[in-house]
Amino acid sequence: MTDPLTHRAPDDDPVCRYGYDLAALRKHVADVVATLPERCRMFYAMKANSAAPILRTLAPLVAGFEVASGGEVAKARGAGDVPLLFGGPVKADREIADALRVNVTRFHVESPLELHRINAVAAAHGVTAEALLRVNLAGPFPTATVAMAGRPTQFGIEEPALAEAVTTARSLPHLRLTGFHLHSLSNNLSADAHLDLLRFYRDTVTRWEDEFDLRCAVLNVGGGIGVNYADLDAQFDWPRFAEGLAELVTTFPAHWREIDFECGRYLVAACGRYAVEVMDVKRNHGVDYALVRGGTHHFRLPVSWQHSHPFTVVPVEAWPPGLPRPATNGPVTVVGELCTPKDVLARDVPVRIRAGDVLVFSHAGAYGWEISHHDFLSHPHPEHVFLG
Ligand SMILES: *Cc1c(COP(=O)(O)O)cnc(C)c1O
Repeated sequence: MTDPLTHRAPDDDPVCRYGYDLAALRKHVADVVATLPERCRMFYAMKANSAAPILRTLAPLVAGFEVASGGEVAKARGAGDVPLLFGGPVKADREIADALRVNVTRFHVESPLELHRINAVAAAHGVTAEALLRVNLAGPFPTATVAMAGRPTQFGIEEPALAEAVTTARSLPHLRLTGFHLHSLSNNLSADAHLDLLRFYRDTVTRWEDEFDLRCAVLNVGGGIGVNYADLDAQFDWPRFAEGLAELVTTFPAHWREIDFECGRYLVAACGRYAVEVMDVKRNHGVDYALVRGGTHHFRLPVSWQHSHPFTVVPVEAWPPGLPRPATNGPVTVVGELCTPKDVLARDVPVRIRAGDVLVFSHAGAYGWEISHHDFLSHPHPEHVFLG
């Protein structure tokens, strides 16, 4: 049977294609959502992948989308009447106004100035906007590869400035402060560490309630559940997490009516694959290279995370008669078609690769195409195939 991801007819251009398995996506996300305990809701952070078929697949399954720009609001609207949470570190007046016009009433607010900005736009529209204050917690946190908080970043309000932000939020008539937003980690692989993090959130927010004499109704615990690219058999243990979460949530105050997750990577990474044809194999200064049609301008994730991305080799027997067919038995470094030594997808992989074989990179559904510099060097874009 021909695989639509890797297939190519003799006269076709070399394989260079993203494939998304929408049936697998539907099943994975439905399984995750089904195991959430009461009060917990799963939103999709659409910056991970905002392709229309992905959004249409997810819209009926999740509680809504987390958006971070006017452009994301527009794309989300294309997927139906989905509830939207509006976050992101910079929001212009026009984006706030457009969001209010399409009934985005909850904002994740990143600074005191932004509180004023949203209040003013809401006033002009004669509405009240719901606000969660995004806080950059002081820590300490469980380990993860990228920390958004507990250290200097451009995100959120630091804890020492929180009291004043709370006072400001309460003084603004077109804002309703309903809780807090805490997105502190990225790519966390440990279910136990994630439960520890939520326990830490519970204790911190409970302390703020006392300190500021307020009642939190909504707690957004962000995303950051990870994908193990280095060892595909050792993924985040969701069943263990869901079990621990069910127990943990019973210790949250009863008036916290909503505990929101906004995951990106964990929901969509596995449904995407990136298939590229090997155009050449060579040895240079003692290192074997496989050069593919494609590269980091389509799939920047490995360079952005400085990792070697997992792939499998689909051997292709067809080869034009009369041409030499270079090959390596590895270790081999897989590079793309860009004129920069940084265009590396995988390093020192012990595998046999011949020119003409096709490499399939797995777990390419999140932060793949989405974060890449597509037009650098003006090569053609890959095909995008949505199956199921
Ligand atoms: C990127 C982002 C997310 C999603 O993060 P993942 O690691 O993909 O789960 C959630 N919330 C905020 C505020 C983000 O910036």
